[in-house]
Amino acid sequence: MPLPVNADRAAPKISFVSLGCPKALVDSERILTHLRAEGYELARRHDGADVVIVNTCGFLDSAKAESLSAIGEAMAENGRVIVTGCMGAQPEEIRAKYPNLLAVTGPQAYESVVAAVHEAVPPVHDPFLDLVPPQGVKLTPRHYAYLKISEGCNNRCTFCIIPSLRGDLVSRPAGDVLSEAEKLVKAGVKELLVVSQDTSAYGVDIRYAASPWGDREVRAKFADLARELGSLGAWVRLHYVYPYPHVDEVIPLMAEGRVLPYLDMPLQHASPSVLKRMRRPGNQERQLERIRRWREICPDLAIRSTFIVGFPGETEAEFEELLAWIREARLERVGCFEYEPVAGATANSLGDPVAPEVKAERKRRFMEAQQGVSLRLQKARIGKRLPVIIDEASGTVAKGRSKYDAPEIDGSVHVTSRRPLRVGDIVTVKVERADAYDLFGSAV
Ligand code: SF4
Repeated sequence: MPLPVNADRAAPKISFVSLGCPKALVDSERILTHLRAEGYELARRHDGADVVIVNTCGFLDSAKAESLSAIGEAMAENGRVIVTGCMGAQPEEIRAKYPNLLAVTGPQAYESVVAAVHEAVPPVHDPFLDLVPPQGVKLTPRHYAYLKISEGCNNRCTFCIIPSLRGDLVSRPAGDVLSEAEKLVKAGVKELLVVSQDTSAYGVDIRYAASPWGDREVRAKFADLARELGSLGAWVRLHYVYPYPHVDEVIPLMAEGRVLPYLDMPLQHASPSVLKRMRRPGNQERQLERIRRWREICPDLAIRSTFIVGFPGETEAEFEELLAWIREARLERVGCFEYEPVAGATANSLGDPVAPEVKAERKRRFMEAQQGVSLRLQKARIGKRLPVIIDEASGTVAKGRSKYDAPEIDGSVHVTSRRPLRVGDIVTVKVERADAYDLFGSAV
């Protein structure tokens, strides 16, 4: 029998750098899944690889600088480099610094990345081997996985250039999302993290079209998808949800225990005038009232949010509105960023820039106010028994997360146990101690 083309040489090796947000990580996973399917292998280091792919982030200037330095490192250590991701949407800037790159492709351009890899190092064809595990190749640990339900965004927040980099919203059919989720759960994933640019807008672009899954049709609607995901037997955590009215429909699913009682809702500000200048989506008015209602339906609900201080033109009075709001809203998890002008964002010309020292001072005051809130909420968990998913384990000492904490961005639960614990275990932990971020306790 004739040998398949190239089958007499070793599998080509790819070194991969993934920068940026969880959404970019999902893109990286897709590219790798495809390449593995064609017989490529992952190299541990740049210098042993046939080609290096750098998946960049171009959201903030600091992220761009990090991307450029990662490209520089790959060029120095290997020299055969393909650049993709958000920053790839502005190839001139990258090419000006690194003219000898093999290729620069934009975000979601999976095919172009794969074509560039083929050109740089052709695949080894072996029709007798399927190298891809059915769940694909994952960069996240095996026990949790990001599930991307759509690309792009229909909003035009004035501080953000993502829609110009990634385009308008394109939702995946619900059946596709569910079968991917099902495969992940079958492969041992215990927690699904639903991500997109705007999760609550899911399906708007395809008019909530139904698609087949199993013996039935499922509509591409946020609440319908959440309900079905909740039936797969894994934890389901919702990220990037904006306060549209239909978010109310998922709160009962959280109260029933189908979906984790956790909402990642980046609100960015609380002053109506700043929100207007930011052109934020969803109904941000009477937010406190809605949060109160949600907590009545699901008392266990943990809300995580991020806020920007020092937005152009932000006055002391507007900032104080935000401070008062944050004290009253009592959100479980909060991040705060100083406004950073992003090249190409309309916000830059919306008002007088806030002086750097004022931004830093506002961030300090904001975090101080929130720390008091967080500490009180955390202390209230002492004595409670919580299910905890284990992320790292070393014998009888482990680190994990409760339902109220997402990986990478929230706090941890430090666990001691009489029996050895393994990554991915879900154990009940009695909370004994708390600080503003982490909980400490023992497995029961
Ligand atoms: S919702 Fe706003 S901040 Fe988020 S991706 Fe869309 S435009 Fe950007």
